[in-house]
Amino acid sequence: MRDKRIKVIYFSLQGSESKEFILSWKLILGSFFLLFAIILLLVGSSISAFTDYYHNFRIETLSKTNAGLRTQLHELGKMANELQTRVHKFERENDDLGIFADQPLMDSDIRQVGVGGSDADRTEDSLLPHDLQRVTNEYRSMLETTSRKLGLVESEKSVLLSAIEERQIKLDHQPSIYPVTGRITDPFGYRIDPFTKSKRHHKGIDIAQRLGTPVKATAAGTVVLAKKKYKKNSGFGRVVKIDHGNGFITIFGHLDEIYVKPGQKIERHEIIGTVGSTGRSTGPHLHYEVKKGGVQLNPNDYIIAE
Ligand SMILES: [Zn+2]
Repeated sequence: MRDKRIKVIYFSLQGSESKEFILSWKLILGSFFLLFAIILLLVGSSISAFTDYYHNFRIETLSKTNAGLRTQLHELGKMANELQTRVHKFERENDDLGIFADQPLMDSDIRQVGVGGSDADRTEDSLLPHDLQRVTNEYRSMLETTSRKLGLVESEKSVLLSAIEERQIKLDHQPSIYPVTGRITDPFGYRIDPFTKSKRHHKGIDIAQRLGTPVKATAAGTVVLAKKKYKKNSGFGRVVKIDHGNGFITIFGHLDEIYVKPGQKIERHEIIGTVGSTGRSTGPHLHYEVKKGGVQLNPNDYIIAE
């Protein structure tokens, strides 16, 4: 291309002088390109500087977040560990309750059944680095196991508590104290009858005590007999009979006074009457019998506490 030239004439408005410039197209175009290149360079380096700054800012923020998350993950791990320890303590407590409730110990294998955490490798759907993923999986599995164990321990505990309650009710209804303290003048079993002098079976124990001494129920139950009318020198005189459930019956003979009525519910230690000498008796004493399922038992075997 032939280089065209342009003449630029410059006139000053204040005077008559003028100046002339002769420019070539090449120079003009070259100047434009140079200017454009400078602008591009400036814009480009500004963008690059800003991008660098932004990247550094992001990296710094993410590092802080990362460190924070690691600390929190560590804290969560510690909490998961503590929970595991506490559930373990609950298991030991249940073992103690089991001993108290006279229940067989829960097999540790049974406790493990269905408790194992899921070992599924979750690395694929995670963007976490390998070490963090491993720790996260470990804590998750620990929490899953702990949660299931907690459920098991809870149901175990409620079963044990109701067994203990049942046992307590049973014990409350089992004769376990002396109805009256005193000298046992006639033991349970075979003896010589004071009236006929012949050998006969004594169905209970005779406890000698002063007339009018209070007589206590030996277990919780229901009064089934409170016989106030009696024949002189015959039978047990004034008698109280208490049904304790589970086949247990207690009988109190030769009473002087009777304070209870048939059908009345009664607790252990409640006073049912007083020592007397009614019926076939040679002096003030209590005739006390314990029966279970119709079988006469030795009342001495049913004394656990005073
Ligand atoms: Zn007797």
